[in-house]
Amino acid sequence: MYQTTYHRASSLEDAAKLHAGGDDPKFVAGGMTLIPAMKTRLSAPSDLIDLRHIDGMKGIRISGQQVEIGALTTHADLAQSKELEKACHSLHYMANHVGDPLVRHLGTMGGCVANNDPAQDYPAALLALDATIITTSREMKADDFFTGLFETALEEGEIVKAVRFTAPDQCGYEKFRNPASRYAMTGVFVAKGAGGVRVAVTGAGDNGVYRETEMEEKLAANFSADALEGVTVSPSNMMSDIHASAEYRANLVVVMAKRAVAKAAGH
Ligand SMILES: Cc1cc2nc3c(=O)[nH]c(=O)nc-3n(C[C@H](O)[C@H](O)[C@H](O)COP(=O)(O)OP(=O)(O)OC[C@H]3O[C@@H](n4cnc5c(N)ncnc54)[C@H](O)[C@@H]3O)c2cc1C
Repeated sequence: MYQTTYHRASSLEDAAKLHAGGDDPKFVAGGMTLIPAMKTRLSAPSDLIDLRHIDGMKGIRISGQQVEIGALTTHADLAQSKELEKACHSLHYMANHVGDPLVRHLGTMGGCVANNDPAQDYPAALLALDATIITTSREMKADDFFTGLFETALEEGEIVKAVRFTAPDQCGYEKFRNPASRYAMTGVFVAKGAGGVRVAVTGAGDNGVYRETEMEEKLAANFSADALEGVTVSPSNMMSDIHASAEYRANLVVVMAKRAVAKAAGH
């Protein structure tokens, strides 16, 4: 057994103070990743600082093309938002296909962003949408934020407050789900907007979420699944585990990308 002290933070300042006062503290939001990690002793924080009761960190704010999502917004909030469906149907679709109802009702956008699990869906969406991650001390582009497997640019004690992006003109997301957990065995998010076409892959790369730049170039010239005909992905930088080999994932990246583009083009 180990001792953990639970704290309910009342504000971001309170959360920062509690964090600074702990030996080995951790923030908790939905607890969908952290609590199982604690149960299996992969994580044993001295202090759990609950962010869920902090005002102003939950909700979807859409103004014109600008979309901002508070870190405490749950997958279910996103899945139920008609406004989000209109602004970015693929993110809405993604939220509807995260895990199971329990995970969707407790898990949060901020928790997913901070955790950067290589099989999570959201890192692919945020990278493809060229999103900005807003924290308690700065704003960072997704390109700079997601740095590796379970790694982000977050500093100790820094809290994700929200994410912001410009709604794309067209977008599509397709994932090949792990049939047990429903995490992405491979997921591809494609977005076309004023800045061009971005293709982000989750669940497959051995360094976590990444962009498929060759596909981006081909799709910039011809935004259709046909443009990806003949494109291959090398298995050398793919994950290989009990769920799927590197070769299988490399093939899935192409298949999912084609489906995502077809979905985007048909919307
Ligand atoms: C059975 C199962 C199936 C799942 N399937 C999917 C799936 O299909 N797709 C998918 O994308 N995800 C899936 N998930 C993960 C789920 O989406 C969780 O929401 C996510 O892992 C973490 O969110 P959370 O709010 O629960 O974070 P927590 O577990 O509370 O925290 C996770 C980590 O993030 C940190 N953290 C949390 N919030 C913040 C913040 N605002 N600022 C800074 N740090 C923070 C915590 O300190 C901790 O280190 C699944 C989870 C389970 C258990």
